[in-house]
Amino acid sequence: MTETIPRPRPKGPQGPQGPQGSQAAPATPGTLICAPLRIEARAVRRGLRDLPDAPAVLRTGYGTTRTARVAGRLSHDPFGQMMIMGVGGGLTTDLSPGDLVVGTEVGPVTCASAPILAGELRRAGLPARTGRITTVDHLVRRPQRAKLAAEGWLVADMESAPLAAAAAGRPVAVIRAVSDTPHRPLAGIVPGGLAALRSLRAAAPVAQRWAAACGTRQVLLAGPRSFCAGVERAIEIVERVLELKGPPVYVRKQIVHNTRVVGDLTRRGAVFVDELDQVPDGATVVFSAHGVSPMVREDAAGRGLAVIDATCPLVSKVHAEARRFAADGYTVALIGHAGHEEVEGTLGEAPDATILVQTAEDVAALRPRDGERVAYLMQTTLSVDEAAEVAGALAERFPAVRAPGSDDICYATTNRQAAVRAVAAESDLVLVAGSANSSNSVRLVETCERAGTPAYLIDGAEDIQLDWLAGVSTVGLTAGASAPPAVVEEIIAALSGLGGVSVSERVTTTESIRFGLPKEVRR
Ligand code: SF4
Repeated sequence: MTETIPRPRPKGPQGPQGPQGSQAAPATPGTLICAPLRIEARAVRRGLRDLPDAPAVLRTGYGTTRTARVAGRLSHDPFGQMMIMGVGGGLTTDLSPGDLVVGTEVGPVTCASAPILAGELRRAGLPARTGRITTVDHLVRRPQRAKLAAEGWLVADMESAPLAAAAAGRPVAVIRAVSDTPHRPLAGIVPGGLAALRSLRAAAPVAQRWAAACGTRQVLLAGPRSFCAGVERAIEIVERVLELKGPPVYVRKQIVHNTRVVGDLTRRGAVFVDELDQVPDGATVVFSAHGVSPMVREDAAGRGLAVIDATCPLVSKVHAEARRFAADGYTVALIGHAGHEEVEGTLGEAPDATILVQTAEDVAALRPRDGERVAYLMQTTLSVDEAAEVAGALAERFPAVRAPGSDDICYATTNRQAAVRAVAAESDLVLVAGSANSSNSVRLVETCERAGTPAYLIDGAEDIQLDWLAGVSTVGLTAGASAPPAVVEEIIAALSGLGGVSVSERVTTTESIRFGLPKEVRR
């Protein structure tokens, strides 16, 4: 097997990848794909074959000794980023031949962009996950597989660690396709190896997209961002009930609209249900931050359930306004989004007097009992601009319309929209951490789009699409009021795996609001 070192050279007559198995040079300056074995390099080249500007694939040779020599020379080469692709031995019993493992750590080297790369592979339909990859100097037999798995390694190979070290601080990623597993050890390597090579080939276009997304960039953080006081309170209530009563603790609906938060609390013993009939008699149930209608409260009382209410006090304020306006004989136009839990709860406070209006067209169609006695309220997490449009249409049609005593769109929603607007003005694109069912997070995306800056809603780094980042030098970053601050840190870390990242913050206001806990969980 020949050791080959890439040197920049013009594209030859055989195209950017050169002849299979021979020395190759990076056709796209800056990107180097390493594949140790001839069959691995061939699989990757085939995957890149029809793509324009495909990077060179360098066959680096088999085993740690040979690889260490190649890596020593590579470390001085002027590539910009390195992708290592090959097959590997799966160490855990949940892996199957053909699965792709994207290294988070490869020996001592951290590959920070692994969540982004694994997410992109999954979106391409490939069975990919992230995990730690170890490099060993011999084939791994059954007892050692179990030992390495117990140490937290997912895959073993014989080349990745020295190659990754040769990146010497430049972006590096490793994709290993599983050829054998504890259930299908080396005896099964032929069919397993073919499955691995197929996956490797299919992963090659994604590797090219990863390379195109590499580069140094600036991250502009919007301040404030992430958890608001109502969300912190709601999460703390569930945590305290878990502490006081032990699991399971039933929660009606998602306590806040965030998959990370819900997943974390589920692991700790919270059980999220859609309706009260899923809660056993006599159990404790927590109502979510979005609030419930009086009918739900009556249901719970009728069932003898112990209720702990995590409704945000700012949502409760809107409920109280609805009751007050209805009692005074007003028709209440509730500006909000159909189907949102908060809207359902508010509508339930005065169902005969409240009408949902989502747009100015809905205002035109409104038929109040008395045009002189119309009031409006708002969902707390609306876009400030859009809600103002609908409120303006109401004022135009019903000049005597009553507004809420104080803004219904809460401080957290307003502040996060102002902050992201400031960041969007300076950014090529904005990433908004938050879940798809989080109203305030979706509004942040819309705020950026209205400002003319593309924005994407992501639950975490794994949702970042590599194409978004190609050629982008300034990324704005914020998080909806229900998204944990840790997600923002994870996203910054993942971006830093694509190249140097400088982080600065644009703070438009600071927040110090805290809400007290209900008496049932106070210490
Ligand atoms: S977004 Fe506003 S209304 Fe909703 S929980 Fe947070 S503070 Fe309360």
